[in-house]
Amino acid sequence: MSAPVIEAVTTPVVAGPREGAFGNAVALACRECAHRTALGPFYACPECFGPLEIAYEFPAVTREEIEAGPRNIWRYKALLPVPADIETSPNTEPGFTRLLKAENLGRELGIESLWVKDDSTNPTNSFKDRVVACALSAARELDAKVFACPSTGNLANAVAAAGARAGIKTVVFIPSNLEHPKQVNSAIFTESLVAVDGNYDDVNKLASEIAGEEEGWAFVNVNVRPYYAEGSKTLGYEIAEQLGWRLPDQVVIPVASGSQLTKVDKAFQELIKLGLVEDKPYRIFGAQAEGCGPVATAYKAGHDAIRPVKPDTIAKSLAIGNPADGIYVLDITRRSGGAVEEVTDEEIRAGIVLLARTEGIFTETAGGTTTAVTKKLVETGQLDPTLETVIINTGHGLKTLDAVAGGVGAAATIAPTYQAFKDTGIA
Ligand SMILES: *Cc1c(COP(=O)(O)O)cnc(C)c1O
Ligand SMILES: [Zn+2]
Repeated sequence: MSAPVIEAVTTPVVAGPREGAFGNAVALACRECAHRTALGPFYACPECFGPLEIAYEFPAVTREEIEAGPRNIWRYKALLPVPADIETSPNTEPGFTRLLKAENLGRELGIESLWVKDDSTNPTNSFKDRVVACALSAARELDAKVFACPSTGNLANAVAAAGARAGIKTVVFIPSNLEHPKQVNSAIFTESLVAVDGNYDDVNKLASEIAGEEEGWAFVNVNVRPYYAEGSKTLGYEIAEQLGWRLPDQVVIPVASGSQLTKVDKAFQELIKLGLVEDKPYRIFGAQAEGCGPVATAYKAGHDAIRPVKPDTIAKSLAIGNPADGIYVLDITRRSGGAVEEVTDEEIRAGIVLLARTEGIFTETAGGTTTAVTKKLVETGQLDPTLETVIINTGHGLKTLDAVAGGVGAAATIAPTYQAFKDTGIA
């Protein structure tokens, strides 16, 4: 497996964080060569430029300790790179979102036991509040002056809101063609929303350049990415806890950079190692849009490397043409007996409507992708419909109204009379 190319190791934000700043985290470890680096604002291995990941020395952690914690991600603080007193610093307190038994959708798709982990109810209505809360803690502990990100939309919303609450300056960068609601949802929280003429990969490149030039800027998914990424583990912890401390058989997860998928797997592995759940096999599936499916393409072709693509899909929150964690997604889905599948924009729209009409959940295009991919996985025999399955809804439909606005609307426009209503044939 070859490492994704990362051009430069960023300059440190400050000299040394305080004792206990990162909880039980002990180092940054390279995912390629295992070389260890001290905890700091670093994201690339000084030896091989491979991506760095947080390494821990966990104490014994019990279910009871976790259950006694707050009803947000900080109930898992012992497993995150955050200080023991994290609850006392202002943040948006995301997580512990509902896990819904989806009997109607299950019946529709022919899946015997189906659950939806609904992350659309987070503070800024996407799973990004989880990762941002962890990045904010790191930015604070590293004494960053500016909290920033390149974003496909939801991340910008989460960064801008968390920065407002924490009283730290935010600057968020988005592709200029982003959905209008996602632009407003950032601009309401920050004066510094920067729209860049280019796609997400262009925005990301610009952010890396700024991170290298400007002192004291914490770009959540660039120079503090190792801390940020750990926030996604909480999705895995919650799924297991809400199932009664056990792992599901199958999980379907949308893939943009691929970070979330890899971290749900990491969470399950940690829970097994800590003895918090029974060890058992589980399959992880990735969901992409055909208009930006570089990981699905590599999966199907049997390739180990990802060929970057130019995104062209309504699933803008998944529109990363050069996914940083794509190779790890391939590894995990193959190793676990899962798959990476992709669907068309038409199928994504149908997926949004299907989830809404079966479960009363209005998801955005990413969730439409996940729902539609789940359907396709069953139809193609890749997902076993007799096994317990969880699908993750990562965002809210009010942010991508245009995707379905043309397909749903008033059944009839009538005069305000009973006869006119009767004439519609609805009753
Ligand atoms: C960012 C995002 C994803 C994917 O996240 P990655 O960790 O980059 O793969 C999925 N769904 C929504 C709604 C998102 O905003
Ligand atoms: Zn390395």
